Amino acid sequence: MATNIPLTGEFKVTCEYKRKGNWACGWHTGIDLIGDETIYATCDGVVTRTGYDKSYGNFIVVKNDADGKYHWYCHLSKINVSANQRVNRVSKIGVMGSTGNSTGKHLHFEIRNASNNYADNSDPASYMGILNQVGTYNSANYQISNPTPTPSNPELKTLAKNTNLRNKPTTKGSTAVLYIPNTTLYVLQPSVAKADGYTWDKVRIRANGKEGYMINQNYK
Ligand SMILES: [Zn+2]
Repeated sequence: MATNIPLTGEFKVTCEYKRKGNWACGWHTGIDLIGDETIYATCDGVVTRTGYDKSYGNFIVVKNDADGKYHWYCHLSKINVSANQRVNRVSKIGVMGSTGNSTGKHLHFEIRNASNNYADNSDPASYMGILNQVGTYNSANYQISNPTPTPSNPELKTLAKNTNLRNKPTTKGSTAVLYIPNTTLYVLQPSVAKADGYTWDKVRIRANGKEGYMINQNYK
């Protein structure tokens, strides 16, 4: 099993990703995480750089095969990989630390776009499938057992409230897995059924590839 999250087990987001604005912990190009100290790669890819920077401390950069973006893992106490090494989501690439401009042990995880330039970045929370919000999460809820390609013409929606993903398009006799607000999902087939007073869509959860049925009025 694997995830798009660099930590395993329970972990905390201690500072969100923000590109701009007046935020409590400043303008932030990545997301800060604490938890188990073993750092995993978050994609299939190749290590393009490792090194030390006075801001980022000991860092590793991995280029994602899938989209050419660069995953930065910073403030590490230990680096287990070297440039040109191939990694995947079960590779233990480093150990969390507090090197560089850091006030305590944490991982700064940043995703830079294909330019790999500072400040040209993507939302790492969205990539991980979690909320871009300070809080406690568990990687067990974000497993990718069978990553599936994005449909060619998906409609991406965001949950507005707690919603069950069901194995049948009905509340009766189906199994349910609860997803929280801001979970993103693809609508694979709209309006596949009407049951229990609801219209049901066939959907795929973006973070973990799980497919099932949801009530279609719960999106925003
Ligand atoms: Zn940070």
